[in-house]
Amino acid sequence: MSLSSPPALSPTLARIARGNLCAGCGLCESLAAPGRIAMHVNDAGFLRPRVSAALSPEEDAAIARLCPGLALSKDPTESERHPLWGAMISTRVGHATDETLRHHASSGGALSAILGFLLETGAVDGIIQTAADPDRPIANRTVESVSLDDIYRAAGSRYAPSAPLARLRDQLDRPGRFAFVGKPCDVAALRAYGREDRRVGDRFPYVLSFFCAGVPSLAGARAILERFGVAETEVAAFRYRGDGWPGCAAAITVDGRTRQMGYDESWGGILTRYVQFRCKICPDGTGGLADLVCADAWYGDARGFPTFADAPGRSLIVSRTTTGEDLLRRAEAAGFLVTEPIDAAAIAAMQPGQRQRKALVLSRLAALALLGRQRPRYRGFDLARAARQVSMLTHVRSFLGTVRRSRRGAFG
Ligand SMILES: Cc1cc2nc3c(=O)[nH]c(=O)nc-3n(C[C@H](O)[C@H](O)[C@H](O)COP(=O)(O)OP(=O)(O)OC[C@H]3O[C@@H](n4cnc5c(N)ncnc54)[C@H](O)[C@@H]3O)c2cc1C
Repeated sequence: MSLSSPPALSPTLARIARGNLCAGCGLCESLAAPGRIAMHVNDAGFLRPRVSAALSPEEDAAIARLCPGLALSKDPTESERHPLWGAMISTRVGHATDETLRHHASSGGALSAILGFLLETGAVDGIIQTAADPDRPIANRTVESVSLDDIYRAAGSRYAPSAPLARLRDQLDRPGRFAFVGKPCDVAALRAYGREDRRVGDRFPYVLSFFCAGVPSLAGARAILERFGVAETEVAAFRYRGDGWPGCAAAITVDGRTRQMGYDESWGGILTRYVQFRCKICPDGTGGLADLVCADAWYGDARGFPTFADAPGRSLIVSRTTTGEDLLRRAEAAGFLVTEPIDAAAIAAMQPGQRQRKALVLSRLAALALLGRQRPRYRGFDLARAARQVSMLTHVRSFLGTVRRSRRGAFG
């Protein structure tokens, strides 16, 4: 159990730490009185809450109700949804029309193009999003972007912990309307809190996300630096990908050297080994609660697997609500991005990892139940229907693999 959450100070956070269920979103910091909880980087390189004063029973109960690590729930009134990809109004591929942004961003820059539209048209006063931490270039910090330059600087995926809800209370306490960009778990936490505090809907009229295969710890970036032969103290800037699609992980040192590594090696070979446990049993890697989500619209090889060959950036764009669909249409009409429709059936070939992961959630949860380990509660994610997408043999392997890794202590 993490010493950061002693049971006497917060029984709920101690329970979450025991189950290794924290996703690191930071909502708990905002649910407690100022100074009681602060997100910090733990020894394993993940953002986790540190409790420094006992929470009131009400604060502890709010965390138990709203923490996305403990439970995720979809709106029961939600209409028709795909067992793997969730509710979809439209599925499209496209890219930012600004070619510099398209090249710099993670996939096709669609997300940043849409954010630019929101800001330029005055639909929002700012964007709450994640960018590189200038004081620690491999890490992230939450920023409020108020210009196209800010959005450009924050573009690109940062495969490292982020806690964009840690300052939510401050953001709700001041006037203004914002777009929020976060991981699917951040969005789920924001939506859950919004059911209890109506200001969330007023302050955040647009909630955007991306497909997420899980959050690697900072130890992942350090392993990349080790491969580069560069000490963390020498790093002036660090990029996880972008500057091409998928581009490279790159470190620029204070004395001007640049070291680079392809996406296949950085994400596939290194970072995936450092993904936190909670993400491996996540049913919502595709951002089911956002208004609109973006992802990589990978091209497949003859066997249907993504090639990761460098190409002009292309984003997959899924609008999930009428707000998201309307936003996408307006941003495209205003010339910020171009898109074309695709059949939802094409997503499986672009995102085989997400397909497999969602299909296996049920067998992984079954293994945790057998071991008597704590597991999150999920409602509205069609896990039984998703499970039918893979063979029984694949489920047996996933079940046994989870039992084996858990016994080895791999889940913390
Ligand atoms: C941890 C992680 C896992 C991912 N897994 C997948 C996956 O399995 N499949 C897939 O297709 N795509 C995945 N992505 C997303 C993908 O890399 C692109 O972000 C997405 O395709 C959108 O591309 P874009 O060019 O439209 O976005 P851009 O225009 O580059 O904008 C990216 C946005 O993401 C935000 N962001 C970056 N890093 C973080 C972070 N750590 N936390 C919160 N917000 C962040 C930025 O602030 C920016 O608003 C993942 C991203 C992350 C951060």
